[in-house]
Amino acid sequence: MRVAVVGAGLGGLALAQGLRGAGIEADVFERDPGIGARFQGYRLVLNPTGFQAVRDCLPTRWHPLLDEIVVDASAEQLILDPQLNEIGRLGAGRTGIVVDRQVLRHLLLTGLTVHTGAALTGYHVLANGKVEARFARRDPATADLLVGADGVTSAVRRVLSPRTTPTDTGVRFVIGRTPLTDEFAALSTAYGSKITDGGVSLLLGAMRFRTPPKQAAEQLAPDVTLPDIGDYVRWAMILPPNGSLEDLTAQDAVLSRMEGWHPELRTLIQQADPNNSTLLSIRAVKPGDRWASGPVTLLGDAIHATSPTGGNGANTALRDAELLRRCLIEAGEGRRDLLGAVDDYERQMFEYGAEAVRSSLEKLPAFAPEAKLS
Ligand SMILES: Cc1cc2nc3c(=O)[nH]c(=O)nc-3n(C[C@H](O)[C@H](O)[C@H](O)COP(=O)(O)OP(=O)(O)OC[C@H]3O[C@@H](n4cnc5c(N)ncnc54)[C@H](O)[C@@H]3O)c2cc1C
Repeated sequence: MRVAVVGAGLGGLALAQGLRGAGIEADVFERDPGIGARFQGYRLVLNPTGFQAVRDCLPTRWHPLLDEIVVDASAEQLILDPQLNEIGRLGAGRTGIVVDRQVLRHLLLTGLTVHTGAALTGYHVLANGKVEARFARRDPATADLLVGADGVTSAVRRVLSPRTTPTDTGVRFVIGRTPLTDEFAALSTAYGSKITDGGVSLLLGAMRFRTPPKQAAEQLAPDVTLPDIGDYVRWAMILPPNGSLEDLTAQDAVLSRMEGWHPELRTLIQQADPNNSTLLSIRAVKPGDRWASGPVTLLGDAIHATSPTGGNGANTALRDAELLRRCLIEAGEGRRDLLGAVDDYERQMFEYGAEAVRSSLEKLPAFAPEAKLS
């Protein structure tokens, strides 16, 4: 069996790793011109399901490394004013396993065949039941199964399920990171909390590695090369719809809304790494009607994109990857046919995927009351 995975995000790479480990051929086709072509390095909180899923997709010899590059998170989420005074509580904060997305992505990339500069433009199902994927600047590729793991603007979804389209909530999200130094000691209570002046919210999260990832790989899995990054603070500002962002950089857009805020908060943004700061739109994709099962399917944000305030997008993409991996292994071993395996995956994924989107959108108004949810 040969599987073509479109998209080298967390979901697509986890699936390709899981298939490779089971001896199933999987090629990954990525639109970006190179693996490090754009900002990918924010801090993610994985829940036990997401973490177990990524673990199951990775070879067991890398489990000690995986365990070394993650840290446990648990914090009560406070609501603070711009001077860092407590003005409320959001209740139990997100508990889970914190990982840097860029570091996890590098681990997932190891040993895979990833074709970069390969933007999928369309596909068609051949008479023999296989599928031919077409790309902008490379030859077509034929596979027994095409998996669209190509994110919220999925080109695979446009063909497979054209009526399933993203909803722009109107909410903008500016995210970046700043090296964590002693200078920011006064901010420690703010990590995990929401800082708000009513109009905008700033969220801070500390990424403190037990061992620097590059060093951890050298010690625990010499066949893996991880990026050389140190501890940092991830900051994210949620901006309500209709706010003008003019032509500001990500950092300046945030600073322009922080007049009079605590000086260390402003310094934190000023000292951010500009290459790791970006402005994103919060868009959701709700799984719509099922399509007739065939040799093409979707996973991750391509079929159920959540609001980042739900903290469940990566978790759900990883869950998909692990579930589809299991179904395809059964097909590969001849215990069931391929289309039955894909149908089983889609039936389960539609159900929990829709729930993930619903619960993430439910949490968005606490940060942006004017969000457009449908
Ligand atoms: C700031 C932020 C913080 C987040 N925090 C959390 C968190 O704490 N916990 C959590 O669970 N989730 C979190 N998420 C959500 C999570 O990052 C995403 O849900 C997850 O990365 C989706 O993975 P994916 O593999 O489906 O898609 P993506 O990671 O979006 O990957 C899609 C890939 O497909 C490629 N692609 C697109 N079009 C094409 C094409 N035509 N041809 C070929 N390739 C293509 C893209 O370049 C990309 O590499 C967060 C998201 C953001 C933005």
